[in-house]
Amino acid sequence: MNIIIFGPPGAGKGTQAKKLQQKYNLPHLSTGNIFRENIKNETPLGKKVKSILDSGDLVPDETVVDLVKDELSKAKYDNGVILDGFPRTVAQAKALDSFLEENDKKIDAFLTLSVPEEELVNRILSRGEGRSDDNPEKVKNRLSVYHNETAPVLNHYKEKDAVKEIDGVGSIDEIFDRIQKSLF
Ligand code: AMP
Repeated sequence: MNIIIFGPPGAGKGTQAKKLQQKYNLPHLSTGNIFRENIKNETPLGKKVKSILDSGDLVPDETVVDLVKDELSKAKYDNGVILDGFPRTVAQAKALDSFLEENDKKIDAFLTLSVPEEELVNRILSRGEGRSDDNPEKVKNRLSVYHNETAPVLNHYKEKDAVKEIDGVGSIDEIFDRIQKSLF
């Protein structure tokens, strides 16, 4: 099963993706985690994207798409994937659609987590993960990038019929229950 978990920063994508990974034994592909890992290890990719992540802007589509295609070509994704943080622009979504089509695959579910903006900001500022982009100024930029560049991805998938809107307010387990009910 190929699942996209979608929503603004702070919506709980990573948390719910990990729960899905554990329960259904599907690999979790988080582009943000891959970038942070590369930054930590000071790889060429890490050096290229560090200032972009620090500012809360988006890494160029081509870089992200190449990375995801390489990753999804690995055997561990043969039975499916939970995509978290990708696609984040309509161009990325279109590139993903073509790639999946070429490989006889499709998106089975597009889970979109809705959380009011005020709660997003509170969650991010209190989560204490030590991320360099989790401060008030950067959060403001990340939310505006989400509204301008990422939100249109939802409409792209609405046309394709795989969208499941999940109320993202409540306990982690309550939200996970809603996700499971929407999937099966
Ligand atoms: P995340 O962990 O998903 O919040 O991502 C952290 C940061 O990584 C974002 O603010 C972007 O700078 C970058 N990033 C992650 N995924 C993407 C993507 N699909 N396209 C562009 N930039 C991304």
